[in-house]
Parts: sequence; C-alpha cells; structure tokens
Amino acid sequence: MSEYDFLYKIMYEMTTVFESSTNPNDLILGLKQIFRSFCVLDEFTIYTYDPVSKTMKNFAKPWEIIPNGKIADEINEKFAEFSKQQNFIKKDKNIFFPLYKQGKITGVVKLECVIEEEILNKILPLLIRQISLAVVHLQYFEGVKNNAKFYETVRNIMKITETQYDLNYVLPIMGEMIDGFIREHLIYIFMKKSGKNEYRLIWPNKCLIKDIDKHLKEIKERKSIIEDNGKMCIFPLTENKKPIGAIVAYNPTDNLNKGEIEYLEQLSIQASTTVSKAKEYMTILQNATLDALTGLNNRHMFHQRLKEATSNAKRQKTELCCIMTDIDFFKKVNDTYGHAVGDLVLKTVAKTIKKGLREYDIPSRYGGEEFAILLPNTTLDEASMVAERLRKQVEKKKINIEDYNIDGVSEISVSISLGVSRYDEKTMKDSEDLYKKADTGLYQAKESGRNRAVVAN
Ligand code: GH3
Ligand code: MG
Ligand code: MG
Repeated sequence: MSEYDFLYKIMYEMTTVFESSTNPNDLILGLKQIFRSFCVLDEFTIYTYDPVSKTMKNFAKPWEIIPNGKIADEINEKFAEFSKQQNFIKKDKNIFFPLYKQGKITGVVKLECVIEEEILNKILPLLIRQISLAVVHLQYFEGVKNNAKFYETVRNIMKITETQYDLNYVLPIMGEMIDGFIREHLIYIFMKKSGKNEYRLIWPNKCLIKDIDKHLKEIKERKSIIEDNGKMCIFPLTENKKPIGAIVAYNPTDNLNKGEIEYLEQLSIQASTTVSKAKEYMTILQNATLDALTGLNNRHMFHQRLKEATSNAKRQKTELCCIMTDIDFFKKVNDTYGHAVGDLVLKTVAKTIKKGLREYDIPSRYGGEEFAILLPNTTLDEASMVAERLRKQVEKKKINIEDYNIDGVSEISVSISLGVSRYDEKTMKDSEDLYKKADTGLYQAKESGRNRAVVAN
C-alpha cells in the first residue's frame, strides 16, 4: 500500500469514527480499533485539563479522580512540558501527544504502543490534530446536550403546579424527572416533619444510604451538603430560607461532578418553588370542591358526598353503589409521552366517565389517576353494567395527541380497571366501607389482568 493509500484509509476511517461517536467512550473505542490496524497498541488514553478542579481528567471517565501518584505525576509533567514545546514525547513504549483547542494545550494523549518510526514521525502528528478536533467537538456537544436537558427538566418541574397541587403526586413526579436527568445516581426526596428536625422519605419507598437521618439533621438553610467527594449530596428544599425537605443524590461508586452539583442546586431551587406553591394551593383547595384538572369533585368532596349518599340510602331505603376505577399502566403513558400527555389522558378519561353517567351520579377524582363514582338509586346489577359500559367507552376512545409533536404518534388510547360495590347498611357501619369494598374489587380487576370490571363480594 502506498503512503498515500495508507493515509487515505486511516483518514477515511477516522472520519467515520468521528461522525458516529456521540460520547467519549465511542470515540476512544473507535480510535483504538484504527490504531490497532497499524501498530501494536496496549494503551490509548485521552486526558483533558479541567479548569474547574484544576486537575487532569480521563476524558472517557471525567467523574473519576486520578489519584495522586505515578500516573498523575506523569500526566501533569507532560502537560506542563507541552506548554513549552509541542512536539510529541517518546519514552520507551510510551508516547505522549498534546491536545489543542484554538492553539492552546488542553490535554494529553497517552499511547503505549510499538510503532514504526516513519508513522510515528510523519502520520501520528497529523492524526493527533484530528483527534484534538474531535475531542473539542464532543465536549461542546456534551455541554449543549446537558444544558438542553437541564432546561427541559427545570421547565417540567415548573409546569407541574399548573395542574397539580397534591404533594403526594407532585413529589414522586418531580423525583422521576430529576432521576431521569441524573441517571447514574439514585435520587431521593425527603420532606421535613413539621416542627421537628426529622425527615420522612417520600420518594421512592426505600433509601439505601446508611446514616441518612444523621446527615439530614445537618441541613441548615439552603447550603448543599457534599459528602465523600460527591458520592452523596444533599440539596435542601427551602421555603423562606427554612428547610422543608431535601433532594438527595447518591451513588456508592461515582461522585457527582461540579457541573452536576450546580445543575442539581438549580433544580432544587426550582423544586422548592414548586413544592411551596403546591403547599399553598393545597390549603386553598382544601376549601374548594372541584379538582382543577378534570373539573370533577375532588377527594375531599368525595368523602363529603359519600357521607350524604349513605345516609340518604339508609333513610330512604334505596340502593346505593360505588365504582372505584384506575387507569391501567398510566405511569407508562407519562414515561413514554410526557406528563402533558398524561394530563390530557386524565382529562379525557374524566370526560368520558362523566358522559357515560346519569345526571345524578357523582363522579370524583379520588387521586392521581383514580376515580370514584357514587351511584344513588342503583342496584348492583345496574352498577355492574354501568362499570362495563364505562370500561368499553374508555377503551375505544381515541385520544388525539398530534399537538404534542411526538414522532409519528397521532393518537393513543388507554384502558381502565374497575371495582364495584353495593351499600349494605347492616354490614357497613362506616360509610367509608362502601368505597373500600369497591377498592378491593378494583384490586382484583388489576390482579386478574386489568381492563375489566369486578364486583366485590
Ligand atoms: P396500574 O395498571 O397498576 O394502575 O399501573 P399504573 O402505572 O397506572 O400505576 P401507578 O400507580 O404505578 O402509576 C400512576 C402514575 O400516575 C404515577 C404518577 O406519576 C402518575 N400521576 C398521578 N397523578 C398524575 C397527574 O395528575 N398527571 C400526570 N401526568 N400523572 C399523574
Ligand atoms: Mg393506574
Ligand atoms: Mg393508581
């Protein structure tokens, strides 16, 4: 192969690798493969200078701290050397090259290989220049990608309170959003118990961190607590500068880098606003009767109406039934299409239920994606038919999501599971027993495959 052909082949392959690499790992794997086609390669590592921590970082594993010692010394020494002279340095099997960005040295490439003298002198300097460009490009790309994701997460957290006010739903949704943003770490959300310096885990339902209670007690005002080099970080949620909760990020092996800590600090500030707004809404809405998203009765009102309906049934000796219903796999709708689509689904299901009922039936939004329906003057057989009718109507309802610009999906549909119960004044001493019984029917409907109605007996 002529020198020209050889160079052409290498350059061509490099371009392919550059084009297809979306992260440092891909880039390095691709480059290693190319180098192995013309030399015996034992090591290929790219180190970049991190101006924030003022240390060298492994480009493929930027979260890793290079421990003080032989490797760190060697890399630091070469980095200093390159700011004086920019020729490669060869020492036994090791070859070091500088990385550049706009003429400035920004890193060191270390090769451990056996290579022909001619390739080393003529071709390698050219290749390294190309690699510099690819590194700069990827760094820029990563930054842009992260920023975009960050702003999207902030926006989503901000948006929750447009339709949500129940903290029991707001906090898990928020937890999931932050969890999606910082994938490598476990994310926990704690709320402070009122009047005490103690915290309760809200999301998810188990925390693996030893001594977490002790760490949480150390929260003062807004300042984040960074433990163990960033393996565990606590970001306080505050209201008027006072802690009301905390977001905790934890990873037993990796630490959060400075950029991620800054992102999380910003996210927890936004989360604080969202939480305190939700708290405010909650007190206002405690006195309200309707659910803001669906326009149905809210949970508070449901319990009120339940009391009235059972006492009417008792007094007038009329039949009363209850249906509890829950959307199937609703979490998946949120995860696949986003919370805005989730909200649209909730509204649509609420509307479909309302349309399928008589004027004097009483539908309520019991919680997140659960609805409770009271059916006065209705026998169990009739109620069971109503449940089946609602199930069919929801199942066949097409929900148009064209406005949400989701690749190629213009409509979706969901199903619901339902549980039906009848009020029996002899066995049901408490009015609440009526909906609890419907709930056991709902549970059976879920257990036996979903998208069905089950009469609880
Ligand atoms: P199953 O069939 O067992 O009911 O599965 P599921 O996924 O529907 O059940 P799960 O209870 O695990 O998930 C309910 C999800 O509903 C979790 C929560 O984030 C979401 N959610 C609750 N309230 C709202 C809301 O107001 N809007 C949106 N978009 N999502 C909500
Ligand atoms: Mg559900
Ligand atoms: Mg549910």
